[in-house]
Amino acid sequence: MLKFFNTLTRQTEEFRPLENNTVRMYVCGPTVWNFAHIGNFRTFVFADILRRYLKFKGYEVKHVFNLTDIDDRIINEAAKRSISIDEFTAPFIQYFWEDFDALGNERPEVTPRATHHIAEMIEIIAKLIENGHAYESDGSIYYRIAAFPEYGKLSRIKFEGNITGGSERIDTDKYEKEDARDFALWKLVSEDEEPGWDAPFGRGRPGWHIECSAMSMKYLGETFEIHAGGQDLQFPHHENEIAQSEGATGKLFAKYWIHSEFLKIDDVTMSKSKGNFFTFRDLRDQGYSALAIRYLLLSVPTRKQLNFTFEGLQGAESTVERLRNFRSLVHDAAAKGRNPSGSEGAQNADCGMRNAEFPAGRVSATVALEKFEAAMDDDFNTAAALASIHDMVREVNTLMNKQGLSAGDRQAVLEVIEKFDSVLGIFGCEEVVCLDSEVEALVEERQEARRNRNFARSDEIRDELAEKGIILEDTKDGVRWKRR
Ligand code: AMP
Ligand code: ZN
Repeated sequence: MLKFFNTLTRQTEEFRPLENNTVRMYVCGPTVWNFAHIGNFRTFVFADILRRYLKFKGYEVKHVFNLTDIDDRIINEAAKRSISIDEFTAPFIQYFWEDFDALGNERPEVTPRATHHIAEMIEIIAKLIENGHAYESDGSIYYRIAAFPEYGKLSRIKFEGNITGGSERIDTDKYEKEDARDFALWKLVSEDEEPGWDAPFGRGRPGWHIECSAMSMKYLGETFEIHAGGQDLQFPHHENEIAQSEGATGKLFAKYWIHSEFLKIDDVTMSKSKGNFFTFRDLRDQGYSALAIRYLLLSVPTRKQLNFTFEGLQGAESTVERLRNFRSLVHDAAAKGRNPSGSEGAQNADCGMRNAEFPAGRVSATVALEKFEAAMDDDFNTAAALASIHDMVREVNTLMNKQGLSAGDRQAVLEVIEKFDSVLGIFGCEEVVCLDSEVEALVEERQEARRNRNFARSDEIRDELAEKGIILEDTKDGVRWKRR
């Protein structure tokens, strides 16, 4: 039974979708004004683990992940270069997805951009004006917090004398507001100023928070299951999203809220403004693998802070290599039909009979999978989930050295690895297992070439495969391949 901590209720709750088997989730994505740093990616890798684990549990997932492609930093940087905000953000959007993919994240179902959803934002603001939750002042539109008594229910911030909640991103609006806590929904922009959009309540551009209300409700409906993001977004961003959305619809906005803790460096939060950050590319340039970076980012449960160190990253590098080697070893043994140690016991083990009475590998794999699921069910405890994998690796390695594994045992271990990896994505794709499908496709293409008497292409493919260490054998049953 999946349970996790819901920021909204401050309770660890059993997860229950609102209607059927589908989970609708929204995750606040990056502001595309620069390269994302690995702190940002800690939050995004967790979102990836969350979606993958929900699928592992048998849910259908609809995951919306926005790109913030308009804010003051973007407007200022584009203006400095005398280019449009689209021209300015385009390369950063591309770099973002390159890094996102390289880190092994699955692409969310919907990845909307703020600037493509201005009409939806205008619609919500118009509703809020109409029902008294928003007002105009000096041409800009503000949210009237006094009209939403539940304001503060997510962050539980006491507002007397403290409106910033320690946030670095509190709106600093220069216009008159009814109440200091009120925040801008729409900022007045003069006729000749860019960027600006026409709205029934005047030309302007959106405030920071309205985009996420608009994009989440457009794709997920007025009420959905999960909303997630980094800890710093709890206030004011998520509090304001709730006020806007629930103020407009009168319905619950999101049932569960999950907030990821920070990645720190020397115990200080990693951030662009502090300058104490590494991008994914910085670390790749220093020779670290994407897999090790991913492993490090997910190795600590998301609600605990993670302190980045190069020793930690080096450790992650050795760990992912060990995992990759382990899978190759088990896989190779299966492919060759014998134990890699080549011992007598291994030969016997392969007949399956003796090991059917003593399927130690299967037991180890089954226990590991149970522990893995129990750990992930417990507020996404990735550290304990990894420990269950490492326990299995140790046990199976010992077994392989001692007595070998039966074909059934090997199969069981490989299947469990696939299950772990469907959630964590840490075993990597460079090794034999991933190669198999590539090899098979080439073998098939070579057969096709031969059928078409295209011997030049067929020879080319044979050479290409030979370079990969693959040997082809023509048998009466067709072409077989094996590794050299
Ligand atoms: P931004 O691009 O600034 O809008 O941030 C994108 C996401 O990264 C947000 O969910 C932030 O909360 C998150 N974030 C920013 N810094 C960190 C950090 N040091 N550790 C974890 N998440 C972070
Ligand atoms: Zn957001």
